[in-house]
Amino acid sequence: MGHFDDLTAYDYVKRDDTPDAQNVGWLSSLFPYPKGNVEPPLLAKLHALAVTQPVNVCRGFEDCEYCLPSQREGRPLAKWRGESRELGSAEIWVPGENGALYAAPNLVIHYIEKHNYLPPPEFLAALERFDLNAQKNLPHAALIQDVSKIRRQAAPLQKSIARLVSRISKQEPGPLASSNLESGCTETFQPDPDLQGKLETYKGPINRAPDFYLNSNWTVYLEGVRACWNIARLRAPHRDDLMLIKVDPPLYGRGYGLAQPEISLILVATPHMSRSLFPVKQWPVVVYVARLVSPPELLRDTLERADYEYLTQAILYPTREEIPVGRKWATTPSETAP
Ligand SMILES: [Zn+2]
Repeated sequence: MGHFDDLTAYDYVKRDDTPDAQNVGWLSSLFPYPKGNVEPPLLAKLHALAVTQPVNVCRGFEDCEYCLPSQREGRPLAKWRGESRELGSAEIWVPGENGALYAAPNLVIHYIEKHNYLPPPEFLAALERFDLNAQKNLPHAALIQDVSKIRRQAAPLQKSIARLVSRISKQEPGPLASSNLESGCTETFQPDPDLQGKLETYKGPINRAPDFYLNSNWTVYLEGVRACWNIARLRAPHRDDLMLIKVDPPLYGRGYGLAQPEISLILVATPHMSRSLFPVKQWPVVVYVARLVSPPELLRDTLERADYEYLTQAILYPTREEIPVGRKWATTPSETAP
């Protein structure tokens, strides 16, 4: 599942005839999320929509990132009038005022119930107004079908990530000793007194073997394998195990609509709260990839929410030999520029 900020334009599974919608509840452990209480009648409407009007149904399931493996008791369920649906493989779309539409992963029900997620007021107001008895001709009714065709392109990596994630999720977390208690992170965070000096040494070519390798075919602009060097450990308000790395070849920034043509410095962090890169206990490891929003010269060891932005997911391998056969080396931005 991707991460998208609340109320940004929806484009996760988009076809030509997909109506415009806004994202709600695409949470990720990379960022903190707003918390609060949602009234039971509104929650009941979400259950009803999840059971009766699932949108963009996929074959695989996503697990909640915030539940420790030991806390999971089967998949969370939506329940409505004696029927139920497992959460984690479809979306819920809610019509709002003036033709607005809100698109949420159906796990949003679990995020609200178990993790106190508070959706934006616009979404709650849309739920409040929404009449369950008048749901036959929703503007997005055409979307309620199999989306396997759209997903075929991304399928191979999504499958391998899903396999890895389910394998990883089954492992119990190790002893917890850092402030990031649920992350499986056992190394204590130490601010780096010479972060800027270190960044300076990583500007040019690096004269030592890569620390590990990153592979993603999730999005076209991050295709292929890249060498990675671990530069520093950074923290955010809600977790202290973000790894700042240098990648070679760099990412193609314009592919993400950025003015920056090349992105060499990125952040990686494990999606599941019971895992961490400090230390990596088992390779390969699935990570979120984020870019730094502000220039490296302004980088501090504690990041705010606005300092970084989610790009995609990827897999880290310890050596070139561990990378599955057939994966291509990434090309440099100038070669991939359309
Ligand atoms: Zn959970």
